[in-house]
Amino acid sequence: MRPFVYNALPGRVIFGNGTHSQLPDEVKKLGCSKALILTTPQQTKEGDNARALLNGLAVGVSNSAVMHTPVDVTESAVELATKLGADCLVAIGGGSTIGLGKAIALRTDLPQIVVPTTYAGSEATPIIGQTENGHKTTQKTLKVLPEVILYDVSLTLTLPPKMVVTSGLNAIAHAVEALYSTDSNPMIDSLAEQGISSIARSLPTIIASPEDLEARSDALFGAWACGTCLGAVGMALHHKLCHTLGGSFNLPHSETHTVVLPHAIAYNAPYASQAISAIAKALGVNDTGKSAAQAIFDLAQSLGAPVSLQELGMREEDLDRAADIAASNPYPNPAPLEREKLRKLLGDAWAGKRPE
Ligand code: NAD
Repeated sequence: MRPFVYNALPGRVIFGNGTHSQLPDEVKKLGCSKALILTTPQQTKEGDNARALLNGLAVGVSNSAVMHTPVDVTESAVELATKLGADCLVAIGGGSTIGLGKAIALRTDLPQIVVPTTYAGSEATPIIGQTENGHKTTQKTLKVLPEVILYDVSLTLTLPPKMVVTSGLNAIAHAVEALYSTDSNPMIDSLAEQGISSIARSLPTIIASPEDLEARSDALFGAWACGTCLGAVGMALHHKLCHTLGGSFNLPHSETHTVVLPHAIAYNAPYASQAISAIAKALGVNDTGKSAAQAIFDLAQSLGAPVSLQELGMREEDLDRAADIAASNPYPNPAPLEREKLRKLLGDAWAGKRPE
């Protein structure tokens, strides 16, 4: 018998192609009529399209979302929501835009409809990270969990190929760590395996044929599955390292996940054999002699994604400090967290070494 605890999260999920046309109905279903639309400067067109679609049900568009959810940006957006009398939020974009929606919801309790256009998975989690005075803090509260997730494959067609790959590997990282999480459970294991295989098989097809709707749909489904894993169970070494590298060394989010993941898997492999074999199976390599860590490294490299922290602009002289931070606060992880081993992991990731 495998005893477990599973906390299901509330939320409505709509998945399909062209589904953003359902936005007006979803706003009405929430009992709302004054949506504030959120996006980034780069996705202004999507924000304006949503406003046109919502017609009289939208009171404004804010394209102020930026990386790391800075508190000053949130405060201006809360002011705008109050001034416009908004009664709900519609966030269209990746983790940065969804982060802004969550930050506003945290302060106002406004219900959120999110339309994710990357594979980062924030839409499915009760987690929010915010930055103030250069310091990023994370909290977990149901107040930030979006009420409705509206996945529309057509809105992911514009995601640039490089980001398709790094964002896809960002999603796979959630499922990998869910499989060896201390609070893993059969429900999430199953979603994690589906998520890994959906994304791993669809990325090469998307890179070869960016317009392939089936592959884009497979990847987006995988993103939902992996995001659900992130929202449901605790993460470990890989997420801690990426948080440290992003927060303290300002490295880009999905690219950092892409570089670190093979090394985190290799570090944990001797202590999580069942999970690692499930990951290898989901990647389709368990009978090939290739390890799960090598398969992830090869997938990233073959699709042109970065494989070294050096490429992302990290300085070699910062590796010791990164190892100190990563070893400082203990957290659950299959393999013991030893400072020298973590330093070696970071050195290998910095150099872009293929795991042995
Ligand atoms: P992002 O949201 O920062 O997007 C990167 C850029 O790509 C932006 O300019 C965006 O407008 C653009 N973009 C997004 N989708 C596009 C599309 N379909 N077509 C064209 N351009 C598009 O990137 P991200 O990786 O999705 O999110 C990263 C952020 O999300 C980080 O701050 C991270 O901490 C956060 N995050 C939070 C959670 C959580 O659970 N709280 C989970 C994952 C990520």
